[in-house]
Amino acid sequence: MLDVYLIGLGIAAIKMQDYASVFLGNGLIAFITMTVISLLILIHLNVEQLWQLFYPKKEQANDPHALTCQACHYTGPANSRGVCQRCHRPLHYREPYSLQKTWAALIAAMILLFPANLMPISVVYLNGQRMEDTIYSGVVSLIESGNWPIAIIVFIASILVPFIKILIMILLLCSIQRCSQTDPVLRMKLLKFVTWIGRWSMLDLFVIALMMTLINRDQLMSFTMGPAALFFGIAVILTILAVEWLDSRLIWDSYGKSKSTK
Ligand SMILES: [Zn+2]
Repeated sequence: MLDVYLIGLGIAAIKMQDYASVFLGNGLIAFITMTVISLLILIHLNVEQLWQLFYPKKEQANDPHALTCQACHYTGPANSRGVCQRCHRPLHYREPYSLQKTWAALIAAMILLFPANLMPISVVYLNGQRMEDTIYSGVVSLIESGNWPIAIIVFIASILVPFIKILIMILLLCSIQRCSQTDPVLRMKLLKFVTWIGRWSMLDLFVIALMMTLINRDQLMSFTMGPAALFFGIAVILTILAVEWLDSRLIWDSYGKSKSTK
């Protein structure tokens, strides 16, 4: 999530300019370089190759008891304790209670998004005066101050992404339960898309955390998080868990069932 944090740092610096002068230091250049290098490492890292190098295990896909590990993608029978031979994660034919757990996380996230959007997410004390901002009013104040690009980024990350994610997950769950004939490759692409966009919802929380540490002049000026930050944070974690808990193999099962009942 270093890339999200870096964008959050940029937004916090722009917001800070309302209250103080911000200059770039050498530390920021070092941090940007570190982020770019670690992103390049992550892009070029081949996890399959690493597993083969350090824990070489022959794939046994032809074995009738073979199971695929969701964590390291090893295919073969479980060991005597019923876990993956390579990464020791419990192996299941299909993850137990996958749909139930995903629905529970999604419904809880949907309920939490109401207080997250209606209550103040950040509180600023300026010369003893208390000023509150919700997620939406924060975006509006960014537009009013002329920071259009930042306003668009915050709007997409904090308002659009959580709702799009929940909507796509509900569509996927319904398609699995109704044995839909929709192209399973398309559904897998949608699942990968929600996995990718999910972490961008953390952007606003990073900005608030950075502002809290940077703006603190006691009674003169201070910045603190509002109650919505907690609800928003839990909702984001729940949507990430919902994506994690959905066993993607169920999409192929439902497609197989729709073909066989045809
Ligand atoms: Zn494994």
